Amino acid sequence: MANFFIEVIVPVPLPKLFTYSVGEELQHQVSIGKRVLVPFGNQKLYAAVVYGTDTATPEGYNAKSIISVLDEVPVVTEKQLSLWKWIQNYYLCNPGDVMQAALPAALKLSSETKIILNPEAELHNAMLTDDEFLVVEALHSVKSLTLKEISKILDRKHVFPVVKSLLRKNITLSVEDVKEDFKIPLVHYVKLSAKTEDAGFMKKEFDKLEKKAPRQLDIMMQMMMMCQQFPEGKVPQRELLKKSGSNSAALQQLVKKNLLEIFLEKEIERVKTNNEDFFTLNAAQQQALNHIQEGFSSKKVGLLHGVTSSGKTEVYIRLIDECMKKGKQALYLLPEIALTTQMIHRLEKHFGERLLVYHSRFTDNERATTWTKLLDASTTDKPFLVLGARSSVFLPFNNLGLVIVDEEHETSYKQFDPAPRYHARDTAIVLASLFDADVLLGSATPSIESYYNALTGKYFLAELFARHADIAPPSIQLVNIKELTLRRQMKSHFSPLLIQSMQEEMNNGKQVILFQNRRGYAPVIQCHHCNWIPHCTNCDVALTYYKRADILRCHYCGYSTQIPKKCPSCGDTDLRQYGFGTEKIEDELQIFFPDKKIARLDLDSTRGKNSYKEIIYRFETRETDILVGTQMVTKGLDFDNVSLVGILNADNLINFPDFRAFERSFQMLLQVSGRAGRKDKQGKVIIQTYNPSHSILEFVVNNDYKAFIDFELAERQKFHYPPYYRLTEIILKGRQAETTEAAARLLAAELRKYFPDTMGPVAPVVARIKNFYLRTIMVKNSKKISNSRTRAAMQSAFEKYRLSEKSKGILVHIDVDPV
Ligand SMILES: [Zn+2]
Ligand SMILES: [Zn+2]
Repeated sequence: MANFFIEVIVPVPLPKLFTYSVGEELQHQVSIGKRVLVPFGNQKLYAAVVYGTDTATPEGYNAKSIISVLDEVPVVTEKQLSLWKWIQNYYLCNPGDVMQAALPAALKLSSETKIILNPEAELHNAMLTDDEFLVVEALHSVKSLTLKEISKILDRKHVFPVVKSLLRKNITLSVEDVKEDFKIPLVHYVKLSAKTEDAGFMKKEFDKLEKKAPRQLDIMMQMMMMCQQFPEGKVPQRELLKKSGSNSAALQQLVKKNLLEIFLEKEIERVKTNNEDFFTLNAAQQQALNHIQEGFSSKKVGLLHGVTSSGKTEVYIRLIDECMKKGKQALYLLPEIALTTQMIHRLEKHFGERLLVYHSRFTDNERATTWTKLLDASTTDKPFLVLGARSSVFLPFNNLGLVIVDEEHETSYKQFDPAPRYHARDTAIVLASLFDADVLLGSATPSIESYYNALTGKYFLAELFARHADIAPPSIQLVNIKELTLRRQMKSHFSPLLIQSMQEEMNNGKQVILFQNRRGYAPVIQCHHCNWIPHCTNCDVALTYYKRADILRCHYCGYSTQIPKKCPSCGDTDLRQYGFGTEKIEDELQIFFPDKKIARLDLDSTRGKNSYKEIIYRFETRETDILVGTQMVTKGLDFDNVSLVGILNADNLINFPDFRAFERSFQMLLQVSGRAGRKDKQGKVIIQTYNPSHSILEFVVNNDYKAFIDFELAERQKFHYPPYYRLTEIILKGRQAETTEAAARLLAAELRKYFPDTMGPVAPVVARIKNFYLRTIMVKNSKKISNSRTRAAMQSAFEKYRLSEKSKGILVHIDVDPV
């Protein structure tokens, strides 16, 4: 038999596929989508994915041979490979980049891979081969091993099959899996103490509670009921407090009295039911559902514009159920942060074991398991529902019928670093088209792009504007802080109305959320005499002052330094703080509300393990009265006791120098307003601003999405921005300002030959980050030119640029459709 060549994807950032030869004994094993072990460069080995099998004999060089075939059946489907190819072409990245992003680490072995023992493995009942046993023994003494080391231990060159088998049996983990912040989520549970079995003791304690502590009594009564419903009488603390409407302080008292015990435990998988009897949809939901079903009869993609609390999820569940009844798979995409346990439970109730969850907080091993389950699904007729974040578009579906993209406006659907810089919503639409599946995008504040597609008839539009019966939309009030400042009526950063409303709501036992889009204490320190401002030594940006740590810190690189005693430029000691961040708000609130508990939710306060969960948990259980935060408080959180949301300064959102600033502020302000007043009472929103007549604020107050869209589309059309024009941002990074500038000019000139509307190069607002000088080029092109022609033109501009000496040593990032 003649020599036979294949094309493979190697997970390296190079813009090509690689050709290898296959020896006669392996030829019958090779097929598209299987992994093969290949030698690469200097003594490296990689598991590469077979992309093509009828490759022509390479000319001008001798192709190396593959070493072995790792899989019996393909681990990547042909549909996935088509999607990878689309991503590579559309987002202008390398095939290896897409493979890196798409495959879970357990499927991405290389000679550099390190493995460790899985701390949760049950070794005593595992069936190990002799080789596997030797590796496990070695791991008991040395913690981690590279594949090279394993090959020494086994005295054999090719150890991939052994390692693959250990990973599949969950006995080892590959080190990439072990994420810094990964921890099995623990939950607080409450149990009746052993003493409560003593009837005399119980009677005595209950009598006391009845007289002195009615709140604690409520908890006990609730507990007695709930413990019947949970296995071993372990009731999740969160649910107990919610049902009894009480707080954790009262609960702690009961622990002290020896009535209850609280303990941390792995979240119990509740009895999985496959609940066929559905809640009934209200009239508005039913109408939206009908509309959507009708829409799918003529269009493949629809947009559901539904206000907060209108019950979009119930509509999704109906659609998913129908899809699965037809024997097809469904994908439900959510932004990472909105993918909560609450949501998982809700879907589990309906779909039981057919629900698969996929997100980055899982270990890679768990992700690989989901991958395999879906691959195996091709041989059964059991349809799965996948609930997942961005990266679940890469899973091996084989019979996809429906994709839901909830919160479709969320920018976190776009991957920024590393390449591929793909948008999960747009990728999901392409994925669905490979299966001829339906796609429903949903949002309370749809992105301009999606709404435009609905207006122009590319998508159908369904609306759901009626809220659940007992929920009224919040009342939104603007406060003119310019006027109040002139009249000297501001109390620090708070208007009298805000302070007064906070007091009132908290007197009624309600909670408050305050939103400020800057972290730290003061964003700027300035010398009052000469206007000197401290800057980062590695980046061109002013340092932020942190009071508690008493340091100045850079938000881009983390550099920190002491605040100088006097101005290094003129020697004056009058250094003043300007602006305010979340830390300062937290501090000042303590002065106005000394007896209230205040917490802060931002990037700084959530750095530690589990701290995000802790902060949310304390607020949910009403231990905290006021939550101050950045946009983190706007995402996917439902607190039913919050009746007031205050926005301290709307102007720094609106005035942000980006063409999307209006869209982002409109979305953010409406989303944060949606946090106020969930049940039984109309919530209040107070927006402080220097410019209350700004059109964006008017749209927010009137909750008028359509007026906003008209206004914004006119602007976009006038200034040649999306959705009328397509943008590609190119970022060049270099060690010297001059060489970076020269390279950027050259590249811009090449691009301009094809795209006359190319802007730049310009130095961005922060022109140096971590000692890399930055230049950006923005390519604008009309949507009338086809995608493939655009890509081809761009590729040839890049090829010419790379021929020049000026391009050497300069990093280039390409971001197609930047958000
Ligand atoms: Zn000075
Ligand atoms: Zn810096």
